[in-house]
Amino acid sequence: MPPAGALARLMRSLRCLPGVGPKSAQRMTFHLLQRDRAGARQLAESLLHALDAIGHCAQCRTLTEGELCPLCASPRRERSLLCVVETPAEAQAIEQATAFRGLFFVLNGRLSPLDGIGPAELRLDLLERRLQSGEIAEIILATNTTVEGEATAHYIHEMAQRHGITATRLAYGMPLGGELEYVDSATLSHAFNGRKVF
Ligand code: ZN
Repeated sequence: MPPAGALARLMRSLRCLPGVGPKSAQRMTFHLLQRDRAGARQLAESLLHALDAIGHCAQCRTLTEGELCPLCASPRRERSLLCVVETPAEAQAIEQATAFRGLFFVLNGRLSPLDGIGPAELRLDLLERRLQSGEIAEIILATNTTVEGEATAHYIHEMAQRHGITATRLAYGMPLGGELEYVDSATLSHAFNGRKVF
């Protein structure tokens, strides 16, 4: 019979984390309750605080505490270059691996009609407004090379074309079907610098 009550609830909750199955959730639960109750309390408080304090940047949709994220608010970034990525983690990976000085737009997903994720869910209306503003000269499509990632890149490419903006796509070096976040920085840097016109 599966365990009931608060213990079972905690185990089930921990399984929302990526890569955590029933065994790991059980191990974490016993660790937190038996060995590190102070750490457990801190974890719970940090989670609640982060959920209240962190939202999406009004301009690029990455995770941030303020209205604008530090990159969008910085006067030192090249505002004519816009790099489109699927997740905040991927924006960070490009930021750390390359010398990119432009701005990002974070989709927080990819087009996936079967899952009910369309242009509205990715806030492509915000992106279109950026393209309309006339300040973007090049849009870099750094979505993943999965089927949905490619479809998303094509969709945004057509949007860019309507506004006469050059769209580039990350080039060689990226593993097909791979996720940007997990690529080593040398490969990512190579692919980023070797991007070509879509
Ligand atoms: Zn931002």
